Amino acid sequence: MNVTIWNEHRHEKTNPRVAALYPGGIHEAIAAPLRAHPAVGTVRTATLDDPENGLPVRVLDATDVLLWWGHVAHKEVCDSTVQRVQKRVLEGMGLIVLHSAHHSKVFKALMGDTCSLRWREATDRERLWVVTPAHPIAAGLPAHFELPAEEMYGEPFGIPAPEHVVFISWFTGGEVFRSGVTWQRGNGRVFYFRPGHETYPTYHNAHVQRVIANAVQWARPVVRIADACPNTAPLEPLP
Ligand code: ZN
Repeated sequence: MNVTIWNEHRHEKTNPRVAALYPGGIHEAIAAPLRAHPAVGTVRTATLDDPENGLPVRVLDATDVLLWWGHVAHKEVCDSTVQRVQKRVLEGMGLIVLHSAHHSKVFKALMGDTCSLRWREATDRERLWVVTPAHPIAAGLPAHFELPAEEMYGEPFGIPAPEHVVFISWFTGGEVFRSGVTWQRGNGRVFYFRPGHETYPTYHNAHVQRVIANAVQWARPVVRIADACPNTAPLEPLP
């Protein structure tokens, strides 16, 4: 299985706190445990400032599951890149959308909704409850786990009704949020996972790493079928 981790890679270059937490970039922090995972083959990374946003056709053709982290530069992602990614998801590529990528062009294009939410950057404690324990993305996780410091995201979350809600988060301030949700889009599987604010060490958390590894395996393509709308001959003689 070939995994590509896309990161806009901007906070790490301008905020020393983020650079200290993620010296190789958020993409490398996500990549490291996946590179050590027996079910994952190639792990590559791509960033916004790479040619064609790091996602030319040849990269997407060689990607089974794409992970996406973005925040301040959603508008800088080329519309042609968004169209290529959306097409590949509809053909069968898996997509895992992380944290502030809820407002990425790619996610909004696939959801067809606002994808808006309430938020607060005030070092809330987050407790994630596993609400669908039989789902493959919850494999090996405890009934709940905590992140001692995170940005708060609260409901209502402007998304279409998910196929499964795997996690619900509770925050110190009292809010709740559907923090791990799945959809099918065309032949592809999509998973949104909430934690991952850049100024906290979230991607170094073992439970978060487990969720991402589970999600990568769950999202791998079952089929890859190019979009077509063919005029077809009948199988039986027509009267
Ligand atoms: Zn954030």
